[in-house]
Amino acid sequence: MISFFSPEKLLPRYIQTFEAYTPSRPDPELMKRYGCSRLFRLNNNENALGPPPEAQEVLRQFPPKRAALYPSGDAFYLRQALAVRFNKEPDQFLVGNGANEVISFVIKAFCEQGDNIVTADKTFAVYEWVARFSGLEARLTPLRDFAFDDEAMLARMDARTKILFLCNPNNPTGTYWDRARLCRFLDRVGGRAVVVTDEAYAEFVEADDYPDGLSLMEAYPNLVVFRTFSKMYGLAGLRIGYLAGSPAMVDAIRRTCIVYSVNRVAQEAAVAAVQADDHILRTREMVRKGKTYLHRELQALGLPFISGEGNFLMVRLPVSDTLAYRKLMTQGVMVRTMTTFRFPDYIRVTISSMEAMEALITALGSMLT
Ligand SMILES: *Cc1c(COP(=O)(O)O)cnc(C)c1O
Repeated sequence: MISFFSPEKLLPRYIQTFEAYTPSRPDPELMKRYGCSRLFRLNNNENALGPPPEAQEVLRQFPPKRAALYPSGDAFYLRQALAVRFNKEPDQFLVGNGANEVISFVIKAFCEQGDNIVTADKTFAVYEWVARFSGLEARLTPLRDFAFDDEAMLARMDARTKILFLCNPNNPTGTYWDRARLCRFLDRVGGRAVVVTDEAYAEFVEADDYPDGLSLMEAYPNLVVFRTFSKMYGLAGLRIGYLAGSPAMVDAIRRTCIVYSVNRVAQEAAVAAVQADDHILRTREMVRKGKTYLHRELQALGLPFISGEGNFLMVRLPVSDTLAYRKLMTQGVMVRTMTTFRFPDYIRVTISSMEAMEALITALGSMLT
């Protein structure tokens, strides 16, 4: 019998010093704790309209008995649907358990001890986290004018840099590189490293000069594009996202990909969602209205904000973000605190239904008085 055991000393040093992410409690628990009877979730950039009607129908019709069967191990039909949608080959797509999982696939495929990745300091944190808990160096360059700084990223590259991660548009600042800037960057990186553009919010962007990474991969075979069904397509709860690249690139990354990590329900709903263009238009309309309303009301409240592309914006508060979180929760509004994104005293809010936006403004107003 072992009377005392500590896993700590068996852990690599880079795991010993790594702190686990604390997920938020389920809504009913939070509502009990904060004493609110309804809750607007504005913390995760989810789509208030839910999944497209086509995908909702698939979910309603799913035969329960089919849950007993393993799904397609390589999302066969979804890759076909994506190929048709984007005029590519099915072998140019790799589907994962959320875009989060494909981040791991790429890092595992390309990086070994001593290698590094380059990204920004104030962006989606999962690139940095996966690198660090894989024992790799994450080189973080400060944002410049709230956007990724291409010069700084190139300057931090060395012979051990395997991947550069660009979040385009950036979560949480909403800035993006236009086509010319991205191409210039890709030209300068050349074939020395993999460039990832995380386009989790691509479907929200209406600007003409926004570069659709999928249209650049013929010219740049070292480019990998991430997309997700969690944001625009309202399937966050089912966990499904994908990457796209040149056939050779996808063939390389596939070696570290876990078969069966994407469930059957998610695959079938995503196939239906791929063609849902009406849903994109209706969601954009909701976001446009919500954004216009928030800009006006935040200005009236005297609160500075950072707002760009995507279904979110950031607000700077005269109080700590964690205090604001608690106060807003008592009024049934859940926001994202931004200290963990290295933006202390900012909150990020999802742009959602008018009802939710009005609840947010009312709650902010009463917090400030
Ligand atoms: C939400 C998000 C993702 C991950 O989405 P999944 O739910 O894992 O598909 C990836 N990148 C960015 C920038 C995001 O905001």
